[in-house]
Amino acid sequence: MANRSSTVPLGMLFYKFHCHKCGEKLVRSPRTRTVKPGDPDYAEHSRLGAHSHFIGDVELTEYCFKCLSCDTFAEYEEQCVLSIIQKKLGRAVLSADDIKENRETAQKTLQKRRSVYHCCLRLLTLVALLLALYFVLKANGFEIHF
Ligand SMILES: [Zn+2]
Repeated sequence: MANRSSTVPLGMLFYKFHCHKCGEKLVRSPRTRTVKPGDPDYAEHSRLGAHSHFIGDVELTEYCFKCLSCDTFAEYEEQCVLSIIQKKLGRAVLSADDIKENRETAQKTLQKRRSVYHCCLRLLTLVALLLALYFVLKANGFEIHF
């Protein structure tokens, strides 16, 4: 029996994306490939928890976007960049020049957006941990003064 793993980026579930060739709404489309020990991304996908790993091949299902009307495929990362250009220009359909001219700025925007997002996430996690610690100590009869 093969090991199975699947990944879907969170943004893929929460945001709607549109095809840059025809403007139609994109659908998620699963693609399955086998990751073998020794492949560059094997360690990342063979993870079964913090410390344990699968042994042997991993059958990995990844999601990308597919346009049902013009059959265009787009990886999630690429579609994020295209989506920023679409918003900036105020239209879904992009020409090759539109993409070429705006790609670099869009990639920078995406990176900036992600680092802000991760920063907030880290801060929220820290606050949640401190609150949990506070209540655990309080429940155990410790007096806490600020
Ligand atoms: Zn399309």
